[in-house]
Amino acid sequence: MTDLGLGKVANDFADLIRRRKLPEVVYVTRPTMPNLEGYVQMLAGIWERKLLTNQGPLHNELEEKLRSFLGVEHLSLFCNGTIALLVALEALRINSGEVITTPFTFPATTHSLYWNRVRPVFCDIDPVTLNLDPSKIERLIGPDTRAILGVHVYGRPCDVEAIDRIASIHGLNVIYDAAHAFGVRYKNNSLLSYGDISILSFHGTKLFTTAEGGALVCSTNDRRQRVNSLKNFGIADEETVIGPGINGKMSEFQAAFGLMQMELIGDEISNRRNLAALYKELLAGIPGIQIPADVPETVSTYAYFPVLIDATRFGMTRDQLFVLLRECNIFARKYFYPLISSASCYSALPSATTSHLPVAERISRQVLCLPIYGSLDPQTVGVISKIIAGAQEVATRGTAARATS
Ligand SMILES: *Cc1c(COP(=O)(O)O)cnc(C)c1O
Repeated sequence: MTDLGLGKVANDFADLIRRRKLPEVVYVTRPTMPNLEGYVQMLAGIWERKLLTNQGPLHNELEEKLRSFLGVEHLSLFCNGTIALLVALEALRINSGEVITTPFTFPATTHSLYWNRVRPVFCDIDPVTLNLDPSKIERLIGPDTRAILGVHVYGRPCDVEAIDRIASIHGLNVIYDAAHAFGVRYKNNSLLSYGDISILSFHGTKLFTTAEGGALVCSTNDRRQRVNSLKNFGIADEETVIGPGINGKMSEFQAAFGLMQMELIGDEISNRRNLAALYKELLAGIPGIQIPADVPETVSTYAYFPVLIDATRFGMTRDQLFVLLRECNIFARKYFYPLISSASCYSALPSATTSHLPVAERISRQVLCLPIYGSLDPQTVGVISKIIAGAQEVATRGTAARATS
């Protein structure tokens, strides 16, 4: 096996791998696949109508169903979440200056600012929510600050009330990248109803998927009209272009897949809840494994299952556990490592200095997302948990042996 740098206990790890290795690779996620015959039937309808895109009937039906399922007033479908984010910024006319954002996210969040000619200002995260730390936002606000772009990482709500307060004091817009927050409820509301605009991603790795796809949620009908024009080249009517739009439209093929997914999403979410509860039970009490507690008053949909590894107590680093799990055919993911602020396109920014982002730095080195998806066998969760518990035992036994040798 790959050298974990654990010296004389390598044999014990080899034994653990031999006993626990799964016969097939388990990925961090798998899409919920709708019934193929049903999808073919929907395709037959598309063939008949010959309407392939531009607000077709399936597109409009999916918009309607998602509005009601998510409990939001104004929703607009997109070809993907990244373009939804670009349009969100342009809809609020944020195309210069600075936006305060988190470094602990998928690259698309930060790149959306770059594409709108906005300079990202990275703010450290809170060790509990793992999202923007509101107590560190205000010191970053300057004359060029236009907005706050938060991310509900793993579907865990940002401190939306505190962010709202800061934004209204300073006259800033608030945008949430809610790519992970499909169906999340906070204080009996959709989490998507906070801020000026939230965006969702329906990428194949997300909880609800249309292969590629996304949506934008906003609070007024006027704004939705502007968004709808901007995602269609800025076209408002046959003779009016309101601004420099883009092509962000969702096709009928994606919408058909989404409509089929709608029928499975309730079971998908409840299966994930059961699996998350099982992980919590089985991983509880393993020294050095911390499961971030659910944010209070939140109903989670468990798009991800992150754990934090404290290398000192666990006996191995996150990277060592990552390799060990791979050896056992378990493909966990280091979401989000390294921080996007350390990418060469951003690392020269003053706010990207690692000493300004100590919590994000630490969390990005400790976090590991374990497999979770509705069709994951609970027995596999059992095996993964046993490997983690076994790894800790072997690794700390090694430490004890080294300490006395
Ligand atoms: C997946 C993801 C995106 C990008 O969404 P796409 O639909 O793939 O463009 C943006 N932000 C976050 C946090 C994501 O996880």
